[in-house]
Amino acid sequence: MKVPLLDLKAQYATIKDEILPVVLAVMDSQWFIHGPSVKELEKLIASYSGCAAGVGVSSGTDALLCSLMALGVGPGDEVITTPFTFFATVGSIWRTGAKPVFADIEPDTFNIDPAKITAAVTDKTKAIIPVHLFGQMARMDPIMALADAHGLAVVEDAAQSIGATHKGLKAGSIGTTGCFSFYPSKNLSGLGDGGMIVTQSEALAKQLATLRNHGQTSTYKHKWVGGNFRLDSLSAAALVVKLAHLDEWSAKRRANAARYDKLFAGFDAIRTPTVRQGNVSVHNQYVIRVPQRRDELKDFLTSHDIHTAVYYPLCLHEQECFASLGYKRGDFPISEQAADEVLALPIYPELTDEQIKFVADKTMEFLA
Ligand SMILES: *Cc1c(COP(=O)(O)O)cnc(C)c1O
Repeated sequence: MKVPLLDLKAQYATIKDEILPVVLAVMDSQWFIHGPSVKELEKLIASYSGCAAGVGVSSGTDALLCSLMALGVGPGDEVITTPFTFFATVGSIWRTGAKPVFADIEPDTFNIDPAKITAAVTDKTKAIIPVHLFGQMARMDPIMALADAHGLAVVEDAAQSIGATHKGLKAGSIGTTGCFSFYPSKNLSGLGDGGMIVTQSEALAKQLATLRNHGQTSTYKHKWVGGNFRLDSLSAAALVVKLAHLDEWSAKRRANAARYDKLFAGFDAIRTPTVRQGNVSVHNQYVIRVPQRRDELKDFLTSHDIHTAVYYPLCLHEQECFASLGYKRGDFPISEQAADEVLALPIYPELTDEQIKFVADKTMEFLA
């Protein structure tokens, strides 16, 4: 039996009849940049996320960068985030000229620890980027309280968590902006790179929409220096179709997670992921902790055609490109331990019960 980490062909087979006509309609229109499908998707995602507005952009990375640009983050500023995330979170801070400042994570959810953020705030802090990792939201209540007390912006990195909720509120709807990615490995994926910024502020949305198009306020008049952060009409058209299926796919991911939880119950050599009370996860990943022989387990599973991944093997404070920040190994021990122990098992919606059982059996066989 073969178990890929993700099977987009299986998903496509279920929606091909819906996708092809809308893609062909864009082809017939030859309106590839900011066609009607982009506006439609912006409205739908804003409403889906409980936000006032959405601004389509070229990627999750550009959603973060464009948000920080709109918030005026730049040289001399500090932005607090987690060292246990995808590179783009921190790369975006760096590219504005601001300094990334790290705060360690909570061991059970892998999300940033609000208490550690408090300890990292200085008079230079301008913003916080909580990352809702693997499909589960960070603890937004204390983060928002801290941000309000210090007048800080909050940019939610919700690239892995579209549709997740925290105490009933959707990912992306709580902070100053929320950033989604439509990269193929995300729960809602387009026809290539793409992303969306959501916000409760119409004024901010207007500024973001300007920044994504070189800061142009009217034809060839530029109020700010933005970039080309535009979303393709083709991708937007497909995303409109796929969004209608998202909740059903997320429910399947949750059911798959519950199956793994049950199969692994009582097996002490690994720790299954924790979903905190008050959170509904969309399980972009199902990440177990393997304190011993993680890499050997991964190789063993690969040899049985079970494909897994390590998100993330090296924390951001230890990356060569950020050496000048002066961090060293040992500075964020909970993140570092996570990097040594995590293993993401296949969790995509179309996975069969037999495949899940096979993955769990082989995992337990190796570690028993
Ligand atoms: C995928 C991802 C991004 C970047 O999104 P892209 O669309 O690939 O640019 C940012 N942050 C996190 C946590 C991600 O998982």
